[in-house]
Amino acid sequence: MIREIDETLITRDKLLSSSDLARLGCGNCQGCSDCCRDRASSIILDAWDIRLLKEGLNYSFEGLIDRGLIVLGISDGVVLPSLAVKPEADECVFLDAQGRCSIHPFRPGICRMFPLARLWHEDGSFSYFLQQGECSHAGRVKIRISKWLEYPDIREYELQVRTYHDALKDLRRKIKTGLSHEEQVGLQRQFLEDWFVR
Ligand code: SF4
Ligand code: SF4
Repeated sequence: MIREIDETLITRDKLLSSSDLARLGCGNCQGCSDCCRDRASSIILDAWDIRLLKEGLNYSFEGLIDRGLIVLGISDGVVLPSLAVKPEADECVFLDAQGRCSIHPFRPGICRMFPLARLWHEDGSFSYFLQQGECSHAGRVKIRISKWLEYPDIREYELQVRTYHDALKDLRRKIKTGLSHEEQVGLQRQFLEDWFVR
C-alpha cells in the first residue's frame, strides 16, 4: 500500500538500509498476530510476492484468485492484487487456527518488513524506516534488517522490487495522461499479464 506521509517527520538518521540494525526482534511474535488482523485487507502484493506465492503454493495467478487467496482491487488508480480476508473475520486468509502464518516461508514483503515500511525517493531508490507504535510487542531487540526480511538474496530482492516499482510508477503516469477508458483497460491488462500472470 502506498501511503502519503509527512517526510519531515522522518529524520535522515531514521532512514535505514538493509545492512542497518533496528529494534525489530520480537521473539517470534510470541502468540501475537495483531498485524495479520484488521489491516490484512490493505496488504497489496507486488510481483515478487506473487511469484513466491505461486511457487510456494503451486498455483497460477488465476488459481490464487479462484481459490479466494488474493483479490484484485484498485490502488491509486491501478488494478493490483492484495491478500484476501476471511469472510467470517477481519483477518488474513493465511492466518491459521493457532494464530500463525500458514505461508511463513513465502509470506509477502509487507509482512516480512512489519513494523518497518519503505520510503520511496524521487530517484526510484528507497529506504526502510521503523513505524513507531505499530507493533504492540514490548522489549524488541536489535536485529539486522536483511536478517529480519529473510530473503535468501537481499540484493536481488531489492533490485526486483525497485524494477517493479519503476514499472508501476510508469503505468500510473501513463494512466494520468488522459487515455481513453479502453486504452487504460488495455494497459492495466498488459501490466497484470507481464508482472503477475507470466
Ligand atoms: S504486532 Fe508485532 S508482535 Fe504482533 S504479530 Fe505483528 S510483528 Fe508480531
Ligand atoms: S500472509 Fe501471513 S504474515 Fe502476512 S498477514 Fe497473512 S497470516 Fe499474517
